[in-house]
Amino acid sequence: MSALISRIRACTLCATRFAATATAHAPRPVVWFRPGAKLLIAGQAPGARVHASGRPFTDPSGDRLRDWLGIDEATFYDLDRIAVVPMAFCFPGYDAKKADLPPPPVCAKTWHDKVMANLGDVPLTVLVGAHAQRWHLGVRGPVTQVVAGWRDHAPRLFPLPHPSWRNTGWLKKNPWFEADLLPVLRGRVQEVLG
Ligand code: SF4
Repeated sequence: MSALISRIRACTLCATRFAATATAHAPRPVVWFRPGAKLLIAGQAPGARVHASGRPFTDPSGDRLRDWLGIDEATFYDLDRIAVVPMAFCFPGYDAKKADLPPPPVCAKTWHDKVMANLGDVPLTVLVGAHAQRWHLGVRGPVTQVVAGWRDHAPRLFPLPHPSWRNTGWLKKNPWFEADLLPVLRGRVQEVLG
């Protein structure tokens, strides 16, 4: 496992792609997993703040995600219990509207199966956003439809929208998410984390 982590940390496959973005940044893989995790957060890709900090979800999206899961920061960053494996380990840069670019597909193709094989059987996985849902569930439908069908995947998998501020309007339009899904998810998180 440590060899795999070292290889990912040293990965520069997207160097040319990132150099061509407005931020012209270098790859900085944010690697956060260890075998034996009880909760896997399958996310999208680090944002600019996470690129700077080198730790996953050190941003307002992380605050909202921790609230959804019902856990504090100390629990969230306990590597023995929680793994964070996004569809790309590096910040992809911004598009013309200052939104994050999608995760480069080469990252999941190169690393995801190897990481999942090393993680072993994880009793609870939350799928944050469309990219993770496509990979782990094989679905291509709109996020609202996939998240609304959460009961089809629980209690091992929970599809979630991205916790970005950009989805605040989505949360208002879909009150069932906070009323129905989150209480069940929080109960399951407590169960698996002990
Ligand atoms: S996003 Fe993934 S494939 Fe691309 S440089 Fe980072 S670790 Fe490597």
